Amino acid sequence: MARDSQTDAKAKVVIATQNEHKFEELKSTLSELPYEFLPLTNWSHKAVSETGKTFVENAVIKARYASQRAGIPAIADDSGLIVDLLRGKPGVHSSRYAGEYATDEENRNLLLDQVKAKRRAEEPVYASFVAILVFLEHADDARPIIAEGSWQGSIIDDPRGEHGFGYDPLFLPLDSDFTAAELGPSVKNRDSHRAKAARKLMSLLSDRALQRSTAN
Ligand code: IMP
Repeated sequence: MARDSQTDAKAKVVIATQNEHKFEELKSTLSELPYEFLPLTNWSHKAVSETGKTFVENAVIKARYASQRAGIPAIADDSGLIVDLLRGKPGVHSSRYAGEYATDEENRNLLLDQVKAKRRAEEPVYASFVAILVFLEHADDARPIIAEGSWQGSIIDDPRGEHGFGYDPLFLPLDSDFTAAELGPSVKNRDSHRAKAARKLMSLLSDRALQRSTAN
């Protein structure tokens, strides 16, 4: 699945997210692929229930729903923040940590309260962003392509920066003096969990294409 040979138009792929920031980040990091990326909002505004216990399960659920609604291949991302001191929380609940309809600020404030209650003075609060990207050729595809990326860092006490979304203002990548929200899109699209997962996905997609071409 690459190009439509009749028209040489790029094949269309739906990106299964309602989050505009994620859509833009994914579109940019996957731009080398020969696909035209379309947002799920072209077909549906429904937020599908993320009932899985793992990022992989949730990404597959989202990709399946998007592919079924759009009738074309889908890429979905499930991602979140893992804080070691909180035994992996907020994890798969990152987007709704402070409640089903919580804002990013409410989620950050809850995280900061929990960190402050548990941390030992002066020790860094280690954390990682994790992203899983799933590619499905169609809604019944039994062999999803799954790629993972992570970004290591720590959580700071006071939010800083205006870029990005979610926990970016609290996340200080290792070896950086700037938070993910201060670094801006060009650095984030190079170094982030999502960028790393996207590079892996691109490589796995070309392996799959190669397997096909050698099988034929
Ligand atoms: P979901 O993958 O849509 O379920 O939500 C992931 C949630 O994890 C987001 O709503 C954010 O709270 C958090 N998250 C994931 N990736 C990032 C990121 O790159 N920056 C900041 N927060 C993120």
